[in-house]
Amino acid sequence: MPTQFSHSLTSLDAFAPRLLAWFEINGRHDLPWQQHQTDAPNPYIVWLSEVMLQQTQVTTVLPYFARFMTSFPSVQDLAAAEWDTIAEHWAGLGYYARARNLHKGAKQLVAVIDESGDFPQTLAGWEAISGVGPSTAGAIISMGLHRYGVICDGNVKRVQTRWAAIDGDITKSATTKELWALVERLTPIENSGLFAQAMMDMGATLCTRSKPACLLCPLQDDCLAHAQGRETDYPVKAKKQPKPSKFSNALLIEDTDGKILWLQRPDNGIWGGLWSLPLEFVEKISGKVAVKDKTLSAVTGNQLLEVASNEKIYETEFTTAEQIINEWLNKNKLSAKSVSNTLLDDSPIKHSLTHFHWYLTPQSVTLNDTQATEITKALQAAEININWLNADDAQVTLGLPRAMVKIFE
Ligand code: SF4
Repeated sequence: MPTQFSHSLTSLDAFAPRLLAWFEINGRHDLPWQQHQTDAPNPYIVWLSEVMLQQTQVTTVLPYFARFMTSFPSVQDLAAAEWDTIAEHWAGLGYYARARNLHKGAKQLVAVIDESGDFPQTLAGWEAISGVGPSTAGAIISMGLHRYGVICDGNVKRVQTRWAAIDGDITKSATTKELWALVERLTPIENSGLFAQAMMDMGATLCTRSKPACLLCPLQDDCLAHAQGRETDYPVKAKKQPKPSKFSNALLIEDTDGKILWLQRPDNGIWGGLWSLPLEFVEKISGKVAVKDKTLSAVTGNQLLEVASNEKIYETEFTTAEQIINEWLNKNKLSAKSVSNTLLDDSPIKHSLTHFHWYLTPQSVTLNDTQATEITKALQAAEININWLNADDAQVTLGLPRAMVKIFE
């Protein structure tokens, strides 16, 4: 009987048994969030790890996961934690919206548990939690509750587009639909959690992005991309537009004790809820900028990077706090200066975010006691959370985004 898929029924039916047999012998069974070896799975652990693993590799997540589990062993602990504590635990893991969703999601989960006595038991129940999409919900249902659930994350998409030679653009919804239909067809009703775990493991360890180990793969006999010798042509993804760039000064506003002014970023926006130096938007830089980036300097032979003349300059906005600081500095005829004579290097730090590259140049200004008190009062009057801390203390006690840490490295 013909199928809607490119493989025969025999191939489709043999997919799961082959994958599970491979996983049993060759898969990873000791990751701290895996629940396939217990009869009493913990959905909290799966939810937490799945959020951390979005766009982040296992080796990076491991120490963060361990710290979270030590400090917040249950969803109730996470829900009750202060945002600053969570931000400090998350600092450096990137994609900070995930941390905010985690905090919000923990509160939503505790509300569900208080009302129903348990974690959500359905896909719809999990998808109602902040930051949980269909694949994460499928992972939690299948691995965290040992019920039937399907996942279709980045690893699964890579394996499936290769195995079935699906050449549609994976950013398009028609391709997503095709992939979901295929994974649903392949996922066994029994053991869907084990299957999900095995799929993720295979994508991470065998069918990797640039060097798939096809000779070790249990799917090589009927993998269409392998048959064509075109493994790395899949998944097909529309070429991204080059990222725009944004240039800012990072202001080291110091008091006479060497303490630096830190601002908590507004919730909505980049680094929401984390702490940073005040930033000052630099209108435009053309030509060349010095960049502290070893890869680029190796390419260019020195520390100068040409900013392409057609490179779009990312428009930015000051936060209220930065407006206050800017106006106050202007009013007091103070301006931040290059920090090249201090311990810091004043060449820009290049920091790449999802939508743009950010060049941050450290600039310093020292305030006397009266001035430090004045600016503190002005910011507090606008209900802005601030802190005066030296760089070492700030790194230990505040949740700083990676770009801020880079400035002091
Ligand atoms: S044969 Fe190669 S390309 Fe195909 S699924 Fe296996 S590892 Fe991936």
